[in-house]
Amino acid sequence: HLSLRLQAVANYVKKGARIADIGSDHAYLPAYLARHQQIDYAIAGEVARGPFDNAKHEIQSQGLADIVHPRLANGLKAITPDDKIDTVIIAGMGGILITEILSAGLTQHQRFPNLILQPNTDEFIVREWLMKHDYTIHSESIVQEGKHFYEVMMIEQGKQTLSRQDIYFGPVLSKQKSPTFKARWEKELERIHIILLKLRQANKMNTQAYDEWSQRYQEIQEVLNR
Ligand code: SAM
Repeated sequence: HLSLRLQAVANYVKKGARIADIGSDHAYLPAYLARHQQIDYAIAGEVARGPFDNAKHEIQSQGLADIVHPRLANGLKAITPDDKIDTVIIAGMGGILITEILSAGLTQHQRFPNLILQPNTDEFIVREWLMKHDYTIHSESIVQEGKHFYEVMMIEQGKQTLSRQDIYFGPVLSKQKSPTFKARWEKELERIHIILLKLRQANKMNTQAYDEWSQRYQEIQEVLNR
């Protein structure tokens, strides 16, 4: 049984895929996919000893060692050409760290046809990186767990031009406007509203910060109202 967030990631894995789950921690995702015969092969990559041991334990105790292979390594260094990985998954990390891991891979000439990314923060930085490196966002979803919202992107190779709105709100999400998408951005509107109130109270209405927050507020309203 996966969390809603990891289930949203799992939904994008193609049947028979050969995946690398980078930053796998307990390897819950590849273990789940292997148990359900959704994948042929997986690497559970971890940079830290503790999580790596968790992954090893999970894989062995479930008898999945033929399919899921734990590796202690930094980022995409966990993957060798012999693994024939077609899908790289990076979930549950900040967007900046995700792009750093992908960039380090590119300098090692590692490029993969499918990516499934779930940044916890800074989704726009991930989308900017994807556009710059000739990846296309094929699908997106958003889920809520408690007070947290999580965006998941399914990515393929190919050029894509994203507008500023696409980059901040997601090219697919901002068209679909699901109830969860709306809830996420309504919440952000409330947060910015309070920031603007405080700036006004502090007599800081003629500052660059005030202008930027106002602009941000308007952009969100435009996306929600259209
Ligand atoms: N992917 C799982 C999920 O979504 O539930 C676990 C997320 S956990 C919050 C992030 C994991 O990424 C940690 O276990 C951490 O050790 C690992 N990590 C961070 N940087 C990494 C890197 N450069 N290479 C591999 N793993 C990394």
